[in-house]
Amino acid sequence: MEISGNYQETTFRDRPSTFGKDGKRVWLFPKMPKGKLYNIRRIIAWSLLIFFYLAPFLKFRGEPLIFLNFLERKFVLFGNTFYPQDFHLLVLAVIALIVFVVLFTVIYGRIFCGWVCPQTVFLEFLYRPIEYLIDGNPEQQKELAEQEPDAIKVLKRILKHGIYLLISFFTIITFIAYVTGTAKLGEIMDGWPGQRFGLLMGVIAFTGAHYFVFAWFREQVCTVVCPYGRLQGVMLDVNTILVAYDYKRGEPRRNAENRRGEHGDCINCYSCVAVCPTGIDIRNGTQLECINCTACIDACNSVMKRIRKPSGLIRFASEKSISEGKKVKFNARVIAYSVVLFALLTVITYLFTVRGDVETTLIRSQGTMFQEYGPDHYSNLYNLQMVNKTNSEVRLEIKLLAPEGQIILMGDSLNVAKGEVAKRNLLIVLEKNLVLASNSHLEIGVFENGKLIDKISSSFVGPNSLDNKQ
Ligand code: SF4
Ligand code: SF4
Repeated sequence: MEISGNYQETTFRDRPSTFGKDGKRVWLFPKMPKGKLYNIRRIIAWSLLIFFYLAPFLKFRGEPLIFLNFLERKFVLFGNTFYPQDFHLLVLAVIALIVFVVLFTVIYGRIFCGWVCPQTVFLEFLYRPIEYLIDGNPEQQKELAEQEPDAIKVLKRILKHGIYLLISFFTIITFIAYVTGTAKLGEIMDGWPGQRFGLLMGVIAFTGAHYFVFAWFREQVCTVVCPYGRLQGVMLDVNTILVAYDYKRGEPRRNAENRRGEHGDCINCYSCVAVCPTGIDIRNGTQLECINCTACIDACNSVMKRIRKPSGLIRFASEKSISEGKKVKFNARVIAYSVVLFALLTVITYLFTVRGDVETTLIRSQGTMFQEYGPDHYSNLYNLQMVNKTNSEVRLEIKLLAPEGQIILMGDSLNVAKGEVAKRNLLIVLEKNLVLASNSHLEIGVFENGKLIDKISSSFVGPNSLDNKQ
């Protein structure tokens, strides 16, 4: 294969695209992408942004849509409240999520970064459009950056960075609302900033950090800091579907020598490079800096349309499909991984949906044996714990379903406020002639407002059957 242009150069391997030879930051001025994929990304990004800014303020079943109360260890997700007792669910969800991300990346590459990662969503769809609006297109931005400060430049800088700071401030306040809830947020903001110096310092620090990331640090998060980006090297292989340049079709690129002769479909217009938010040339092959945002696909497709060539010179494809000149196929491996992904999602969804409103734990009191309870009965002492995971008070009861017997609850009735844990001792009393083994199985019903909601099992200790018959 004959290749041309900087495809044979390897300087892009020496350092990230945003570092110059002297190690200094190269500031990027990417063009705003235009095209089908960008339009879809914009819809997704704005849906995510609107959701992010509204979620702690919208109520569902009397609670915020999302409420992450770390101090009281109470978490609300879409009307479902989770307490420390649900920690196992959280651990399972996190493990499943990690497996999901790894498998997803192996199959579909880093598409998460370019489409739904908060860094990209905030930067490309909130901060960058403001920059286009105030500083103009990339050429005008560059000119402004290089020119000596004058009144216009100072005014534009104050306006742009003022808006950036405002967005950062409201973003941090929204984060606080996620953790405190809106009611508490109102309380702690009362008399603020004069009366709550600590809070003021915290808000200033986090607002500053947020502003720093989006006003200055920008794509460095993806290219230098993000550990997920660094892991790409071990997760991708030749079958991974990612944003790729079809060098078979594009090379040799059109240049001054072959302008009138034979050349591939790439006309070396650099439109794909101009829109890249991480400043790379996708024609150099897959690179760690590529966040799979697809801006270069849109840019190249519009060039192909103009020169009347088929679209897809840059497209979603695997390295293997390009080298073999075939269309990307959903082979057995991709299908198998996708099935595992689907199964994982199903398991997580199932675990969350079957989680009961009330969690009951009944264990026999440690170190106790059976007791005589009158002339004809035995009793066992138990510790009962009931967690109300609903958003309202519930009247709970427990009854012995099998065998026949009696539950004697010690203490108050089981009216449990939302999110509260009720702890009681109780006796289970069985007739002696029903205790036929040293360890009998018990089935107990949990009733919420008179309705059976759960069945739990326990055991009843008695004398061994021989002693019992004597
Ligand atoms: S190479 Fe293309 S897909 Fe990758 S970051 Fe740049 S524009 Fe986005
Ligand atoms: S946009 Fe397409 S034609 Fe233009 S340089 Fe990039 S790959 Fe080549």
